[in-house]
Amino acid sequence: MTHLTAPLHMVTRFAPSPTGLLHVGHGWSALMAMDMARAAGGAFRLRIEDIDGTRSRPEHVAGILADLTWLGVDWDGEVMFQSQRLDQYDAALDRLRAEGLLYSCFCTRADIQASLTAPHGPEGPVYPGTCRGLDDAERARRIAVGEAHAWRIDMGRAVARADALEWTALPFPPDRDPGMPITATPLTHGDVVLARKDAPASYHLSCTLDDAAMGVTHVLRGDDLHGATHVHRLIQALLDLPSPAYIHHPLLLGADGRRLAKRDGAIALAELRRDGMDPAALAADLRAGRFPIGISIASA
Ligand code: GLU
Repeated sequence: MTHLTAPLHMVTRFAPSPTGLLHVGHGWSALMAMDMARAAGGAFRLRIEDIDGTRSRPEHVAGILADLTWLGVDWDGEVMFQSQRLDQYDAALDRLRAEGLLYSCFCTRADIQASLTAPHGPEGPVYPGTCRGLDDAERARRIAVGEAHAWRIDMGRAVARADALEWTALPFPPDRDPGMPITATPLTHGDVVLARKDAPASYHLSCTLDDAAMGVTHVLRGDDLHGATHVHRLIQALLDLPSPAYIHHPLLLGADGRRLAKRDGAIALAELRRDGMDPAALAADLRAGRFPIGISIASA
C-alpha cells in the first residue's frame, strides 16, 4: 500500500542544564538524538535550560557549547535559551491560573518534610496539599506581605479536566518500531510545582512549552525523566500542545555502580578533552555503545 501522507519531519533535541560539566553520558545522549534526526532527514536542536538561578552558571553554558562542538555534535538553527522565554512561561501560568488549576504554595522544604503523612510518588515525597485549602483572603494577605511562594498545579482538578491521556513510548535503541501507548498517570506525582519560589517556571512547565515551541517530534532523554513524562503529557493537554514521542535511554553508571553525575569530574568531556582524547574516536565509541573504562550502561 502506498502511503500518501508526507513523511513526518523529525525534530529531536538535547536540553542540558548549565549546572556543571557535561559527562560522557550527556555526549552519548546528544549524539544519539542528533543521529536519530539526521538519519530521518530531520533537524536536531539545542536548548539550554538556564532558569535555575541558584545553580545555572554562564561559564557552564560556554563549556557545554565547547564540549559538544569538540565531540562533533552540531545543532540546527539557533540555540534556545530558557532565560529568554520567561514571557512564554508567564503566559502559560496566567492561563492555568485563570482556569483555576494553580494555587500559591508558601511551604518550605522543611514544612513538607515534616509532614509524615506525605506518600511517596515516582519522584520522591508527594506534596501533602497543605496550601491547597487556604482561603483566598489569606493567600492574598500572604502574597501582599511578600511571602515567598511557588505555584502548584491542583493535580486532581487538572486530571479531571484533561480526561484519560496517553503518551507514545518508543523503544531504546531507536528503531522503526511505531512505539506503544502508555497511560499517563500524573496523579501519582501530586501537586507538582509549575513556578518555583526561586525560578520563574519549573522544569516541568518550561520543558513542555519549549519542546512544543521547537517543534520537537521525538524526545530522547535519560530514564531518570521517565516519570516526568506523565506530568508533561498532562501539561500538553491543558495547554493544547502536541505530544512528541518519547524514548528514555538507560543511564550510564560509574565504576562505583552509581549513575554518572556532573560531580564526577573524571569522566567530564572537558577532562577527556584536556587529556588529549581524540573526539572522533570517542564519538565513534559512544555510538557503538563502547564507554570509557569503568563506565557501563544501567540495565533496564
Ligand atoms: N535539563 C535536563 C537535564 O539536564 C534535561 C531535560 C530533558 O531532556 O527533558 O537533566
